[in-house]
Order: sequence, then C-alpha cells, then structure tokens
Amino acid sequence: MAAAVTVIDHPLVQHKLTLMRKAETSAAEFRALLREISMLLAYEVTRDLPLTAVAIKTPLAAMQAPQIEGKKTVIVSIMRAGDGILSGMMELIPSARVGHIGLYRDPNTLGVVEYYYKVPHDIAERNVLVVDPMLATGNSAIAALSRVKSTGAQACKFVCLLAAPEGIRHFQTHHPDVPIYTAAIDVCLNEHGYILPGLGDAGDRLFGTK
Ligand code: URA
Repeated sequence: MAAAVTVIDHPLVQHKLTLMRKAETSAAEFRALLREISMLLAYEVTRDLPLTAVAIKTPLAAMQAPQIEGKKTVIVSIMRAGDGILSGMMELIPSARVGHIGLYRDPNTLGVVEYYYKVPHDIAERNVLVVDPMLATGNSAIAALSRVKSTGAQACKFVCLLAAPEGIRHFQTHHPDVPIYTAAIDVCLNEHGYILPGLGDAGDRLFGTK
C-alpha cells in the first residue's frame, strides 16, 4: 500500500490558495501568498519530527526542554517553481539545508532531463522534503525523488500546493514509500498537462514571466 496523501485543509491555507488561483492576482501577491502558505505547509509536514530533551536554564530555573532531534532537515527545490515554496519554508526552518534539482522535458523524447543537481553531501542521514508547487503528470517529481534516493536519501516527503489525481497515481507507482502533502487535489489534467482548475503555470505566475 502506498504512503499517505495528506491534504492540508487548514482554513488559512485554503483561503490563501483561493487568492493564488485567481487569474487577477499579481506576481507580487502570488509570491507573498506562496511564501505564507509554504510556512503553513512546513508546519504540518514537520509535525512528526522526533524531539529529544536537553538541559537548559531559564532565568528562573533549570529544566529539561524539548528540541528537534538529529540532523537538520534538507529542503530540495525542483527548479524553478519549487524555489517559491523553498523561500517560505526557510523562514520557518532557517537551519534547514537546501538542495536544488533542475529538470526539463526533452521536446523530442518527452523524457525528463536533469540539467542541475546539488544537495548536501550527507543527505542520506537527513529528513528530506522535496518541494514543487504542482504535482501534474508526476514526471518531474518522480525523477527528482529517484535522483535524491540515488544519493542515499531514505526519509523523503513530497510537498506541493496542488496535485492532479493522475499525478498522484503515477507518483505512487514509482515511489509508494514517499508520503505526499498537498493543499488540494484538483479535478484532472488538460491536454497540455496543466492542472484543472489549477492556478496556471506556477513558475510564470511566481516570476511574472508571462
Ligand atoms: N505546472 C504548472 O506550473 N502548472 C500546472 O498546472 C501544471 C504543471
């Protein structure tokens, strides 16, 4: 059985997502909203991080206080739209390490081609969040997770804003061990591989390139 798909249905997330979907939302507003939503997604996605007790002193007394156990989380952004989620998550988890993966679709073979890959050398010992706003066909997410796992990463989660049912199914056939977190599951893909109703091209909306 495949790992869980968690829809983060918090009212603040849903409200901000609606604003992001609106065609009239400007690139500046879209960026700010993605940053805010990403902080809320990070809050939910890190809910199960293990804690350990450490001895500290408050101004009044000594105590055992909880802190996150183990090595820092790695956030791997699938460029370029993943960078919008990355910046919000980094505000909430400032000590996180960062990786980047660059992928494009070869127009002839339609296969995914990697043009950039840089992740922390000890990623195998860390929790990894692979982020991309849109889980559409699933091809990029599948390639990114395969690459990250090939570097030794084991504890991986995939975080997006919107997912298509087709993309979820495709992803789960390749990475049944990887949980998916999303703010919404939309209706379907159109003939160009865009999510409907969706929000358009996340990269273009984020960077104002269209
Ligand atoms: N990528 C996007 O930016 N939008 C979609 O709807 C699908 C893939």
